[in-house]
Amino acid sequence: MTFHIPKGMKIAATGVLVRESNEGGQNVSVWKSEAPETVAGFSFGRFKVEQANLTKPEYAIESYANEESPEWVNALKMEAEGDALPTTGSHSGSAPLGTMSTTGLNKKALAEGELAVQLYSDYFGPSRFKHLQLTQQTACDFGQSWPELVWIPICYYFDTTVRHQLGLDWGDRGYWKVVTPHEIAHQWWGHTVGFAYGRDQWMSEGFADMSASLFVSLVEKNPKKFLAFWNDEREILLERNPQGFRAIDVGPLTMGYRANNSRTGSDITRRLIYPKGAYVLHMLRMMLHDNRSGDQVFKDMMQDFVKTYSGKAATTEDFKTMVEKHMTREMDLDGNHKMDWFFNQYVYGTGLPTYKLDSSFDTGADGTIIFNMKLTQSGVDDEFKMLVPVYLEMDDGRILSLGRAHVAGNNAVESKVPLTGLKLKPKRAVLNYYDDVLATP
Ligand SMILES: [Zn+2]
Repeated sequence: MTFHIPKGMKIAATGVLVRESNEGGQNVSVWKSEAPETVAGFSFGRFKVEQANLTKPEYAIESYANEESPEWVNALKMEAEGDALPTTGSHSGSAPLGTMSTTGLNKKALAEGELAVQLYSDYFGPSRFKHLQLTQQTACDFGQSWPELVWIPICYYFDTTVRHQLGLDWGDRGYWKVVTPHEIAHQWWGHTVGFAYGRDQWMSEGFADMSASLFVSLVEKNPKKFLAFWNDEREILLERNPQGFRAIDVGPLTMGYRANNSRTGSDITRRLIYPKGAYVLHMLRMMLHDNRSGDQVFKDMMQDFVKTYSGKAATTEDFKTMVEKHMTREMDLDGNHKMDWFFNQYVYGTGLPTYKLDSSFDTGADGTIIFNMKLTQSGVDDEFKMLVPVYLEMDDGRILSLGRAHVAGNNAVESKVPLTGLKLKPKRAVLNYYDDVLATP
């Protein structure tokens, strides 16, 4: 791609900058992608640039913020200060912009970029790229990812006070926290692994949202923020939209953007594929998790998936086959080494179970603490089956993973578990502590 731009302006684009020159008072900037791409993007402005070079993995990251605010921001600022709203002309440069300057948080965008690239490389293996440009765009309410380039909405760069003054509190559901890690995750989901058809798009958006959850647990000191993230995702799926529909009921993930129509509303796919796609991957992560190796099996599976489909387009069935390659014996609920049961319920179906746990603790004759539990599954069809994790919360706040109960249909399972080695009675037993299973709250 060759761009002719006025002197003093900068451009960031998909590919590598191969040449920059000045011809007849214009800057000429030439970019070349290293491999064929399905899409290419660019960002153009009077930018201030911050940069960092990672060594593990080898990755150059640049962050571009506008030196001057766009007109709509200046207009809002003047309105807030009681000045007349300018109807024409550009910002004179005399009004104090204060905290509405967006270059101050450019270092934050860069730091988030560095952390996200390191985290995703660790979990998913290398992306196809060695270079990423984070660029501020003047629209407030959406981000977008291109190969080696991300658009981050300008309102991300405002501090929370300014966002509140501007009435942007709708981002309270964590939008501002995850917009950067979500868009960076698309360097893997969408631009390293492509997705074949509209019915596979849930993986692009869902995996990007799930990746953001990993980012949240990396950067947030408070582990409850991770639970809040999943709580928000579930709320988006289960609340009614203006047309009266819950996204979870409207159709399966593979409906993709076909689920949007004049009856269901134009927002239903957004409410469906992002959070539910994220939950599907999160549920798999939690099923593959064990106390000894942690996320290792999940990482192996995701790295295998990325390596196998790097530079190619994957389908939902390709991903299912990859899950079946790495599934644990415990996940083989049908005894056929297949994950149809899970995909039929959550990817190709609209199932949503409700769980109830009745539990108590006794002390056995030899002093062993005995855990009595009755787990009831309801609101599903008779075929629905699940592995439901049971956790123990201790008085000191520790959460211990006890194991997973297998329950099928609208039924209850009862069991008595001796808690050998536990000296103190747990405070309580909890199901799905980490939102391991998408279910009614
Ligand atoms: Zn996205």
